[in-house]
Amino acid sequence: MEHNSSDRANIAFLGLGVMGGPMAAHLARAGHRVTAYNRTGEKAAGWRSALAAEGVEARTAATPIDAARDADIVISCVGNDEDLEQVLLGEHGALGAMKPGTLLVDHTTVSANMARKVEQQARAKGVDALDAPVSGGQAGAENGKLAIMCGGSLAAFERAEPVMRAYGARIVHVGAAGAGQTAKMANQMCIAGVLGGLSEAIRLVQASGIDGDKVLEAISGGAAQSWQMENRWQTMMSDEFDFGFAIDWMRKDLGYALDEARRLGLSSPVSELVDSFYAEVQAIGGARQDTSALIRRLPKGIVK
Ligand code: NAP
Repeated sequence: MEHNSSDRANIAFLGLGVMGGPMAAHLARAGHRVTAYNRTGEKAAGWRSALAAEGVEARTAATPIDAARDADIVISCVGNDEDLEQVLLGEHGALGAMKPGTLLVDHTTVSANMARKVEQQARAKGVDALDAPVSGGQAGAENGKLAIMCGGSLAAFERAEPVMRAYGARIVHVGAAGAGQTAKMANQMCIAGVLGGLSEAIRLVQASGIDGDKVLEAISGGAAQSWQMENRWQTMMSDEFDFGFAIDWMRKDLGYALDEARRLGLSSPVSELVDSFYAEVQAIGGARQDTSALIRRLPKGIVK
């Protein structure tokens, strides 16, 4: 892709995990000057040499604050609330080096409270912050086709959007600080409910002895259609659960969603129930299996 020098930003990227690694690589390939930090240094070195092998330059730094020193934009993608607090607000946290007028974009799935806390502390330093959790999994990060749901000022969104285009296909400004995380919570609640229904439907079909492919053909064009049905029906039928987004991560996300719902005085019994089912799947060794392994807690019944 051709880029003018005016398109180029100094970007600090914090967290080169399954999601962050490919996202940061897209930014470097798009011509930005990327300085990456990863807690485990070898991963950062491997990331940089893989890019060098493609002829793409990038730098690494030993701490978040070092990565952020000359950055116009700091982007983070770590695990949870505690991790984000460390890399942004902690002793060696990036915010410590950020200058007024710079931009902070966080892609971690965290609580809405944490997103608001980050935004407040950033604003106190004259830094614009955006909570921007993603959906689309490892494949979406690698193909540059993530959905990104954003919370923060419109000004922050408008500055970040062209940069996020390097790895985002659908990028939406949802509302004020925390709104991106709340949208991600809604996303996870929808997935939990859909997978609960699919699991029971698949067991019914299996126990009845009817042809699962025919059922899929018959019902996937109608009101029951979903991404999960399109992409996971057949794999759930054949007990394959190696498709990325792990149950450990899902429980973290549902925990944030349930906390936020309680904060708003709501009850969310289906999400609570599915979360407790996921705890059972974790207990039978499914913690790192993908979210469709929800079906494992349902016995197969007597096949007719
Ligand atoms: P991951 O592969 O486990 O990577 C996590 C990254 O955060 C690693 O770079 C890790 O460093 C770093 N990290 C964790 N705790 C840290 C700390 N205390 N200080 C500094 N660095 C720390 O996770 P991921 O799959 O990329 O997920 C990242 C975020 O995206 C999560 O919030 C997840 O819920 C969300 N997400 C994931 C997916 C998915 O399909 N995987 C989809 C949508 C959203 P080390 O290398 O040193 O461990």
